[in-house]
Amino acid sequence: ETVPVQAHVAMVPSPGMGHLIPLVELANRLVLQHNIRVTFIVPDDGSSMKPQKKLLESLPEMISTVFLPPVNFEDLPDNVKMETRIELSMTRSLPAFRDSLKVLVQSELTTGRLVALVVDLFGVATFDVAREFGVPPYIFFTSTAMELLFIFLMPELDEKFACEYKDLPEPVKLPGCVPIYGSDLMDPVQDKNDNVYNWVLYLAKHYPSVAGFLVNSFIELEPGAFKALMEGESGFGVPIYPVGPLVQTGSNIIDNIDDHFECLKWLDQQPSGSVLFVSFGSGGTLSQEQLNELAFGLEMSGQKFMWVAKSPHERVSNATYFGVQSIDDPFDFLPKGFLERIKSNGVGLLVPSWAPQIQVLSHGSTGGFLTHCGWNSTLESIVHGVPLIAWPLYAEQKMNAVILTDDLNVALRVDQVDENGLVGRDDIAKYARGLIKGEEGKLLRNNMKKLKDAAAIVLSQDGSSTKSLAEVAGIWKNQEKVEN
Ligand code: UDP
Repeated sequence: ETVPVQAHVAMVPSPGMGHLIPLVELANRLVLQHNIRVTFIVPDDGSSMKPQKKLLESLPEMISTVFLPPVNFEDLPDNVKMETRIELSMTRSLPAFRDSLKVLVQSELTTGRLVALVVDLFGVATFDVAREFGVPPYIFFTSTAMELLFIFLMPELDEKFACEYKDLPEPVKLPGCVPIYGSDLMDPVQDKNDNVYNWVLYLAKHYPSVAGFLVNSFIELEPGAFKALMEGESGFGVPIYPVGPLVQTGSNIIDNIDDHFECLKWLDQQPSGSVLFVSFGSGGTLSQEQLNELAFGLEMSGQKFMWVAKSPHERVSNATYFGVQSIDDPFDFLPKGFLERIKSNGVGLLVPSWAPQIQVLSHGSTGGFLTHCGWNSTLESIVHGVPLIAWPLYAEQKMNAVILTDDLNVALRVDQVDENGLVGRDDIAKYARGLIKGEEGKLLRNNMKKLKDAAAIVLSQDGSSTKSLAEVAGIWKNQEKVEN
């Protein structure tokens, strides 16, 4: 009789926190629910890896980490797109990745048989190496089924539309999805002459050969998109596993613990459902002018608020994507007297760089979330039933905002109204009041409550996402050794 060899999965997170956080959650579930060992192989894009290291160091014993050597970006121009930089950090790490994977494959007797490689949407470059060692490659898609569907359909859409998407007069209609204006499609496809557009086409070309997609969403949230991905004419012949919402459960303390403690203490003192939480994720930044409007708008709204404020950036809206931290004196960019006023009248609290978002969203005093619509933040709001003000900035956030407003009706969306392309203070005040106090806010809150219940069901013992993850885990555990 043979003793079954332990199953072992390698995971490769692309740079930044937005993909690492849900991958860590996936790893935790594989360990706890399926007794599968996980090793993270982490490319280093040369920025501070401190937050990543802190998070990875806090994980249980069955999860290990290998950090790859930093890649060199000295040859890149300053204005290189975020996606290109991420993609290059993956391709330039390939030789080191190959060495690490080889070690894992060869250590079968001690750490278990390597049954799968799981990467996020940026990880396609690793696939040839995986196949070389007979390890099937999977993608953990950390965004919506709709975005995945869009990528699959890209070659078709590319042929159909000669102009830029933003110049299309009519919304694009993806099967099973709400109509979406071209300007709301993900950033990387907004300029057909940029390399990044070709990169999305390259993804689309490689996706059909992926062993499977685990998608961090759930059927009830996006029934139409999942149907289009999984069956019928537009099915793509690749197994799709809706496993979400996988969101961080515990705290992920990657910053100053005292700040976190202060946030929660402040929330404890506020009335139930009264506080608007304001945060643009790990990467989101605003211009100085826009920051001023936001500060005055929040103050004018008369609502309580907790704002994770980051120093301004004029040129890009994702200035802290690779580093999280902003600057040393965190608040010197705020309007004069603002900090003193909100401190003395107690209406708001400012948090530098990073808040304990899960604890904030699950706190009874939190009544709404002004968010950049990053998909993790979105899922976390759903899990905790918090209605939203959608203020998308970059990546696929506008697509997410369309789902949240036009389809699910759980968010107010800010419009870039004024002549300077800014969201004005009056509007910000109006959204904040509307969400926390208004009738519309009540409706959005009720709708969010229904999604919260649906999310709890899909993750319960017999829920669809739990079963879906068990299905992949079962395939992994029973995998015959593939000879190459
Ligand atoms: N996050 C946090 N505190 C912060 C900002 C972000 O804990 O102050 C976490 C948040 O809970 C989420 C992730 O970082 O899990 C951000 O992911 P998301 O997809 O929302 O946005 P991204 O940062 O990738 O743009």
